[in-house]
Amino acid sequence: MKTVTTDRIVIVGAGLGALYAALKLAPRPVVMISPEPLGEGASSAWAQGGVAAAMDAKDSPQSHAADTERAGAGTVDPVVADLVTREAREYIFDLTTLGTPFDRTPDGGYVLSREAAHSFARVVRVKGDQAGAEIMAALIEQVRETPSIQVLEGTMAVDLEVSDDRITGVAIQKSDENRSAPIMLRGAAFLLAGGGSGGLYALTTNPHRIRGQVIGMAARAGAEISDAEFVQFHPTAMDVGEDPAPLATEALRGEGAILINKDGHRFMTDIHADAELAPRDVVARAIYAQKQAGNRPMLDTRAALGEKIKTQFPSVAEYCARNGIDPAQEPIPVAPAAHYHMGGITTDTKGRSTLENLWVCGEASSTGLHGANRLASNGLLEALVFARVCALNIADKVSCNEAAPLDLMFEEGGEAPDAEAVATLRNTMTDLVGVVRNGDDLRRALHTIAALEAASTSRAFLNMCATATLIAAAALKREESRGAHERSDFPEPLPGPGKRSRLMLTTALAIRAQACKDLS
Ligand SMILES: Cc1cc2nc3c(=O)[nH]c(=O)nc-3n(C[C@H](O)[C@H](O)[C@H](O)COP(=O)(O)OP(=O)(O)OC[C@H]3O[C@@H](n4cnc5c(N)ncnc54)[C@H](O)[C@@H]3O)c2cc1C
Repeated sequence: MKTVTTDRIVIVGAGLGALYAALKLAPRPVVMISPEPLGEGASSAWAQGGVAAAMDAKDSPQSHAADTERAGAGTVDPVVADLVTREAREYIFDLTTLGTPFDRTPDGGYVLSREAAHSFARVVRVKGDQAGAEIMAALIEQVRETPSIQVLEGTMAVDLEVSDDRITGVAIQKSDENRSAPIMLRGAAFLLAGGGSGGLYALTTNPHRIRGQVIGMAARAGAEISDAEFVQFHPTAMDVGEDPAPLATEALRGEGAILINKDGHRFMTDIHADAELAPRDVVARAIYAQKQAGNRPMLDTRAALGEKIKTQFPSVAEYCARNGIDPAQEPIPVAPAAHYHMGGITTDTKGRSTLENLWVCGEASSTGLHGANRLASNGLLEALVFARVCALNIADKVSCNEAAPLDLMFEEGGEAPDAEAVATLRNTMTDLVGVVRNGDDLRRALHTIAALEAASTSRAFLNMCATATLIAAAALKREESRGAHERSDFPEPLPGPGKRSRLMLTTALAIRAQACKDLS
C-alpha cells in the first residue's frame, strides 16, 4: 500500500465531534477525512431536538446528571455524567459565539424545551426543529475560515495501522461507488469521530454513511469496545417505507400528540403512568408490540396541534407532505427505528482509547455517559464536550505547529461493499438484534453475519460486520433486560448495580463461533 506521512493530526469523520475538535485544535494543523461534502452524511446535521444544558437559573447540572444516570438504568459512570453536565452551559455560550442562532426569549435568554425523562425544560433549540443543521452550518463556516484545517472531502477511512499497541496510520480511500486503492496516511495523532452505527439496521433514522464502520475499524485494530449491546430505538420514526426513516420528533408528544392503533385505541395509557411521555425504550417496545400484532401504530397530532404542526415542526410537516400525509387530517404511521448507539470504542475521561495515540469522540465512543439508555439531547452535548477534551489532551501530547497541505493522488482499486450483502446484514440486525431480542435469534444473527463476512473482501464491509458481531455477541452475553436492551428470554434486570460490558473483537468472534456451533 502507498504510504504518505504528514505532521498533521488526522481526524476521521466530519460531524459535530470532528468539526468542533478541529476548531479547538487550531492553530495545530489538522487533516479531516470527510466522506461527503461538509455538512452531509452526518447524524449531527439531522438533529431536531437540540442540546441539553441546565440553562435555567432554577435548574442545575446536578439535576441534569441525576436524570442522565436515571435514564441510563444503572450503568452510567457518575464521574462522566458530572464532567459532561457541569460545563454544558459554557458550550452553549461558545456555540452562540461561533454563530449558532439559538431560539431566544424576548429578554435575551434561551428558549428551553422539555423532553422525556428530563425533570426540567433544558433543551436549547434552533428555529424549532433545526438545531443540528444550524449548529453544523455555523461550525462549517468557521472550519472553512480556519487555515490550519485541511478537509479531504470524498475520502473515507477503512483500516488502522498498529505497531506495539500504538496507532501509527489510517488507511483511506475515495468514498465514491468506485472507491480507490487505499493510501496509508501516517500522522501525528489520530482522532476518530466517525459516528454511531444505527445504519447497520434496515429500519433506522441515521444517514446511510453511519453504519458502524469506524467502531468496527478500531475493534479490528485491537481497541476495546464497551456497551455494544445498548442500541437506542427511537419510538416514532415514520413508517412510510423511506430509508432512512424520517423522524417524528419526541417534542410532538411533548406538545400532546398521542399514540393510537388502527382501531383508534390509545394504547400507551394501558402501559405507563406517563403514557406517551414514558421513557423512550418503554414507548419503543409498546409500538413494536402493536406493529408485531398487526395493529398499525400511529402518532396522532390532530387534536394537539392541528394545522400548527406545519409552522411549529417544519421538518416533520415536510416529511409528511412528501409521503402524501396531511397530519392535520390523519395520523402518521410510526415504527421504532435504530437511532443512537450508546456503545462504542472505550474511552477514558481524556478521550483516549485503549490503544496509544488514538482518541475518540462523539457517538463512535463509549465514554460511560449514556449507560443502557441515552437521555434525550445528551448526544450532541457529549460530542461537544469530548471533542474539546480530546483536543486538549492531543495538544498536550503532540507538538506540531506547521505542516504542508496534503496532495493525495488516489489510484484505481479498492472494493465497495456488495449492496445485496449490506441489505442482508441490515435486515438481519433489524429482524434478529432489534427492539426485543432472544438467545436463538441472536445466535442466528451471528451465524448470518459470519457467513456474510466470510464471503467479502471489502474492508468497509468487514468493518460493518465487526460492529454487527460486537452488538449481537454483547447482546447474547447480557442475560438480562436493562434499558434499551430487552431479552424476552431474560425479561428482568439482574439484581444489584448494573455493569458495563467490555469486549474485544477476538472475544466477540469466539462468542460468534460458539453460537454457530450451537446452531449446527
Ligand atoms: C435524526 C436524528 C435526530 C437526532 N436528534 C438529536 C437531538 O435532537 N439532540 C441530540 O443530542 N442528539 C440527536 N441525535 C444524535 C446526534 O445527532 C448524534 O449522536 C451526534 O450528532 C453524533 O455526532 P458525531 O460527530 O459523533 O457523528 P456524526 O455527526 O454522525 O458524524 C460522523 C461523521 O463520520 C463520517 N464517517 C462515517 N464513516 C466514516 C469512515 N469510514 N471514514 C471517515 N468518516 C466516516 C460521517 O460521514 C460523518 O461525517 C439525533 C440523531 C439522528 C440520526
